[in-house]
Amino acid sequence: MTMESPKKIMVVEDEKDIGELVLRYLQKEGYMPYRIGDGRTALARAEAELPDLIILDLMLPGMDGLEVARRLRQNDRTMLLPIIMMTAKGEESDKLIGLEIGADGYIAKPFSVKELVARVKSLLRRVERNDTTPVAYQYGPLSLDRSRFETVVDGVPIDLTTKEFGLLEAFLRNRGRVLTRDYLLNTVWGNMDIGSTRTIDVHVRHLREKIPLLAEAVVTIKNLGYKLREIS
Ligand code: CA
Repeated sequence: MTMESPKKIMVVEDEKDIGELVLRYLQKEGYMPYRIGDGRTALARAEAELPDLIILDLMLPGMDGLEVARRLRQNDRTMLLPIIMMTAKGEESDKLIGLEIGADGYIAKPFSVKELVARVKSLLRRVERNDTTPVAYQYGPLSLDRSRFETVVDGVPIDLTTKEFGLLEAFLRNRGRVLTRDYLLNTVWGNMDIGSTRTIDVHVRHLREKIPLLAEAVVTIKNLGYKLREIS
């Protein structure tokens, strides 16, 4: 057993009964949950406290959950925070938008608390896996080996520039998550003030041309950036 501090989970829900119920169950599982009742406070607290996970209700007074998620994703500090959206029945299209703008999962009301806890656990596990930064990645027929600076698709080596390689690695490390152009620029190009976020678009285009499977797998997220689809 490793000694880990309990995971902080921010539950953003204005309906007190539902919120308290969720808190109680998360507490029972050993997490450290707390409830925030509105979107603006949630944004400020998320940036200040960086919880390990956010459970975000769609219907909130003032700023709704979609807008909160969008702003979390646009802020470099909070863009990788795992988000589970809570939606009510009949909000199917909102759910889709939520996933598009970068929620990592959703759960529809009315839900069983068991189901929610299971989602929380599996998402936290997934995030931990991403954090271990392996040196090699496999994505379908594509493999990338950082130590050898090697990219292979179906056994055929692909000739990538250093930046294309770095970009692909960033996608593979964060598969399923929306990465903003700013984030990619900072990560791959460093903080040197070269090029603009357009540079990212050009390099993504080159990647898609050189590796056709990425033409579909790397999804453009309007006004935000890109994400590499998860493969099941
Ligand atoms: Ca609500």
